[in-house]
Amino acid sequence: MAKTYDVVVIGGGPAGYVAAIRCAQLGLETACVEEWINFKGDPALGGTCLNVGCIPSKTLLESSEQYHHLRHGMGAHGIHVEGVRLDLDKMMARKDDIVLQLTNGIGALFKANGVEWLQGHGKLLAERQVEITARDGSVEVVGADNVIVATGSRPIDIDAARVDNAEGLIVDSTGALDFRKVPETLGVIGAGVIGLELGSVWNRLGSKVIMLEAVEDFLVLADQQVAREALRQFKKQGLDIRLGARVIATQKTAGGVEVSFKDKDGEQKITVEKLLVSVGRRPNTDNVAAPEAGLLLNEGGFIHVDDRCEANLPGVYAIGDVVRGPMLAHKGSEEGIMVAENIAGQHGHLNYDAIPWVIYTNPEIAWVGRTEQALKSAGIPYKVGSFPFSANGRAKAMDAANGMVKILAHAQTDALLGCHIIGPFASELVQEAVLALEFHASSEDLARTIHGHPTLYEAVHEAALSVHGRALHKINT
Ligand code: FAD
Ligand code: AMP
Repeated sequence: MAKTYDVVVIGGGPAGYVAAIRCAQLGLETACVEEWINFKGDPALGGTCLNVGCIPSKTLLESSEQYHHLRHGMGAHGIHVEGVRLDLDKMMARKDDIVLQLTNGIGALFKANGVEWLQGHGKLLAERQVEITARDGSVEVVGADNVIVATGSRPIDIDAARVDNAEGLIVDSTGALDFRKVPETLGVIGAGVIGLELGSVWNRLGSKVIMLEAVEDFLVLADQQVAREALRQFKKQGLDIRLGARVIATQKTAGGVEVSFKDKDGEQKITVEKLLVSVGRRPNTDNVAAPEAGLLLNEGGFIHVDDRCEANLPGVYAIGDVVRGPMLAHKGSEEGIMVAENIAGQHGHLNYDAIPWVIYTNPEIAWVGRTEQALKSAGIPYKVGSFPFSANGRAKAMDAANGMVKILAHAQTDALLGCHIIGPFASELVQEAVLALEFHASSEDLARTIHGHPTLYEAVHEAALSVHGRALHKINT
């Protein structure tokens, strides 16, 4: 007789491991199936996010920013620095160490909460049975009252540029987080979030970075005023971003990779030492459910779910990158909490309108809610307030007075509709707007809230004041 759990979670990334911990907190007997093998050859929890995503990328963004700042950003403060040297091996070892600490930490949390980690590949069978194939090929089947599929996503591969991380010439994000030498030139296919973040890392460490983006518009999901400012700033930093440039072929050469692309001037070629393919991610659903399970997939291979993340089968749920919605760690985690609470008979809920987005470039870009272009096309009447960091004392003191905060509020009700930030610590500042949206605040609520002085948050305050033409530290138009 197969062992039966209240809940079996397939996948131990930020969606799955959070779901498992919350289930256990609620008294449900829970197991999590996870197959990841890390760079040391050991089984690991944490998924893409902790192993090869959010955490290692933010670690390298921080290290590379410090290096870049020491070399180029101290003069303005009257500090002369000499002899700055890059120890890339140490930088990478620090990143690896942080990844290990955090992924091991999930193991400890599982133990503390009584979540059982079933190591191996999980596959949903009929009647909520789950087959687990271990590394040594042995197979075990367990039963569950509820199954949560959280198998995540992986990079999209294109025929024009086949990735081989082991060879290290044409790589995906995982390979680009692990170069052991700074490439002279780095080509990046796709100027999306991941391409921009990793392009920034290597640009700061000294590579000449050329980004080829098929679409003419830059950062289509972001507010376009912010996107234009971002493009201007990135170009100033030396990122060679070419829009409307579709990569059609690559050829490995003695010195690197020859990349052929088409733009408005016809077919062009560049040669780069390394090439990063960052053209998006696709859901891991290839071998997740046996045909007899009857799990319904959408176009693109995403698992079909409703607003409560319920799949088409009773007692089967799917969360995180493997279902519709933004591929963001916190979105998956919150879905995990919602599902766990609903399984336990509570009233879990997720406000999909209040999910923050962050791009950890310099300046950082972050937003929540609707963009101005989305409001226009939906015909929603709105007012705009904005405030430049150039008029913010704290940003000036930091020598980081680039960018702005932009707030969108309903023209009649004043309800906050969106907040878009490009500038220092945008990733942190945006949380004030997330909270405001969650509490259904108006721009007036933000404007009437006392903000400490001098802080970067004052820019959010002034943008809210500016919605009604009463910003204090800029000339209202
Ligand atoms: P995953 O993290 O992909 O985890 C899925 C897990 O399931 C994996 O561990 C996998 O081994 C396991 N699995 C899959 N199939 C099976 C199976 N059949 N049996 C057993 N186990 C299985 N998001 C942010 O919010 N902020 C960021 O700053 C950010 N930066 C990123 C940077 C990079 C370079 C990348 C690549 C991604 C980044 N993301 C970021 C996206 C983020 O990593 C994902 O949205 C997040 O990891 C999705 O979580 P998940 O749990 O759905 O899937
Ligand atoms: P994201 O989904 O945010 O990671 O962004 C991926 C980007 O890659 C999108 O903006 C795509 O337009 C872009 N892209 C996809 N295929 C190609 C290609 N062949 N050449 C250049 N850019 C591409």
